[in-house]
Amino acid sequence: MNVKLSDGRIIPIDMHKVRVVQQTTLPPLSRRVEAIAEAGYNTFLLRTRDIFLDMLTDSGTNAMSDHQLAAMMISDDAYAGGESYYRLQQAVKDVLGFEYCLPVHQGRACEHLLARVFIKPGDVQLMNYHFTTTKAHFEMQGGKVVEIYCDDALQTASDNPFKGNLDLDKFRASIAEYGADRISFVRMEATTNLIGGQPFSMANLKAVREIAQKHNIPVIIDCSLISENAYMIKQREAEYADWSVADIVREMMAQADVIYMSGRKSTCARGGLLATNNPEYHRQFSEWLPVFEGFLTYGGMSSKEIEAMAVGLREMTDLEAASASVDLIAYLVDLMVKRGVPAVTPPGGLAGHVDAMKFCSHIPQTQYPAGALAAAFYIVSAVRGMERGTISSERDEHGQDILSDLELLRLAVPRRVYSMAHMEYVVDRLSWLYAHRDLIGGLEFVQEPPALRFFIGRLAPIGDWPQKLAEAYRADFGEV
Ligand SMILES: *Cc1c(COP(=O)(O)O)cnc(C)c1O
Repeated sequence: MNVKLSDGRIIPIDMHKVRVVQQTTLPPLSRRVEAIAEAGYNTFLLRTRDIFLDMLTDSGTNAMSDHQLAAMMISDDAYAGGESYYRLQQAVKDVLGFEYCLPVHQGRACEHLLARVFIKPGDVQLMNYHFTTTKAHFEMQGGKVVEIYCDDALQTASDNPFKGNLDLDKFRASIAEYGADRISFVRMEATTNLIGGQPFSMANLKAVREIAQKHNIPVIIDCSLISENAYMIKQREAEYADWSVADIVREMMAQADVIYMSGRKSTCARGGLLATNNPEYHRQFSEWLPVFEGFLTYGGMSSKEIEAMAVGLREMTDLEAASASVDLIAYLVDLMVKRGVPAVTPPGGLAGHVDAMKFCSHIPQTQYPAGALAAAFYIVSAVRGMERGTISSERDEHGQDILSDLELLRLAVPRRVYSMAHMEYVVDRLSWLYAHRDLIGGLEFVQEPPALRFFIGRLAPIGDWPQKLAEAYRADFGEV
């Protein structure tokens, strides 16, 4: 939550106290240069022991609450009919308002089941923006992902508070172009991950709902970061300023036919969840669940995580929890802007993002500026970020890179894990790197898997720029 200090500054204050800690270390520069080479210049392949601040992702890396840990101790491991499942079902009913729910091993498993139930080859899936695993699953089923984002969505420097809105004119035009029968559903991602965790507004969601209903198109919400989107609605949409986060979440849920989520984000657990009030959809999901995930009452999750997710669902709508990462991210992004680092604005829901196309304007997109920036930033900070750009995209049928819309360095802020001092350090090293950005060079693939290559692909620097960058850093800071 933000508090105002007597000198007028507003700071994100931690509404929790830390009672369990994990030690972290700051490896020396020479080790960082080695470690990133060993990792094939892909931050996914670094080890925890070589990382100071792990800002790769907010997935499964959030601090858990005392109540979540306590609930894990009383989980019921029955293969079928376990009480943990029924506690989750009750939480889903109370918090989200859905009668039916199914656990799955994580968010992408929901996308797999949605593809099985909703998508026939040749169908089109409309959405405010794609997510990597979403697109992979829908296309594997023969679907075609069509993004109908608003005009500002790809403007990295913007003051549009809702860059995650779906463009309603493009929605109507798509219905006319493809015909409602070919549209499997319209999917709204609560804070669009790949374009900077940008929220959509309640007004936009309601308008989407209205158009969809007229044409019998199901509305699906990807709720992985639902509490953050709800909190930003409270902050940015005047009509909802006095609403509780819990009421905003309920109102959002009332617009959806099916929702799904990764349990690794807003609910600070692991696992995933698919929910609906439509008995027919539920029946169809249920038929596939034992084939791919597990029996209906555990769905590939451990009973402990089911308990943690049930508690996490209830806790995520507390203002203190919903605001925790959003306010710290806003602080981080504000600092970046003040120091002249090209950040994505306004701040979003899961991370602070740097526009690598501006930061590394000398690196062509075919040499992966965001990947190069992630590697360079690790060398100068021991902070692990993630590339969200062309490396996270794929190749066309001729083997050419499909250049992504944006090249971003994502610095994820897991919930209730890092502090203001950490953010100060991140921005200090970032602004040093910005002043020395000419030293950053490009990357090329040396090992490349055919799908989701960003996870395990290996790259090499073009030239010896990592060594030159390290020399410049050493001259200013020594080994640390
Ligand atoms: C993380 C995420 C997913 C995938 O969930 P996993 O649990 O990682 O499989 C899907 N959609 C969004 C928006 C996400 O952030």
